[in-house]
Amino acid sequence: MKVMIVGAGIGGLFTALRLHAEGIGCVVYERGERIRELGVGINVLPFAARELAAVGLLDRLDEIGVRTGELVYAHRLGQEIIRRPCGLAAGFAHPQISVHHGRLQGPLHRVVERLGADAVRTGHRLIGFE
Ligand SMILES: Cc1cc2nc3c(=O)[nH]c(=O)nc-3n(C[C@H](O)[C@H](O)[C@H](O)COP(=O)(O)OP(=O)(O)OC[C@H]3O[C@@H](n4cnc5c(N)ncnc54)[C@H](O)[C@@H]3O)c2cc1C
Repeated sequence: MKVMIVGAGIGGLFTALRLHAEGIGCVVYERGERIRELGVGINVLPFAARELAAVGLLDRLDEIGVRTGELVYAHRLGQEIIRRPCGLAAGFAHPQISVHHGRLQGPLHRVVERLGADAVRTGHRLIGFE
């Protein structure tokens, strides 16, 4: 069985890694002609960090991101609205890591590309299936 993954975002790329780790072959199809490292800052929550750790990517994530210890919302004049601990500081077994979306997608893409010459096929848009 070979699994077809549509979309080379962080979801599709990570799914390819997990399937590969389970010995299940897959191909990622991406409609874009190339994968560009775009996006904004995102938070990799502890349950997501756990999954990245399971495929050996936690160290890499630490290199490109920041372990978030606390989340603080404040009024525009600085008055605090809410403050709460995150990740390890909140008692989770895995950290919360703030990272730029593109800087996470890029390394994931490079790891998945190493799974095979045809592991990621760009310029392919899914228009239907049966
Ligand atoms: C401002 C902002 C802040 C965010 N903050 C967080 C956060 O803190 N934490 C968090 O977990 N998430 C956050 N997100 C959401 C985050 O972007 C998603 O969790 C993540 O990018 C989803 O990845 P994905 O691979 O599922 O989808 P996407 O990144 O959307 O990737 C989908 C891919 O599929 C391709 N595609 C689509 N249709 C087709 C088709 N028909 N055929 C072939 N290819 C196709 C697209 O070109 C794209 O490359 C945030 C999003 C925004 C906009």
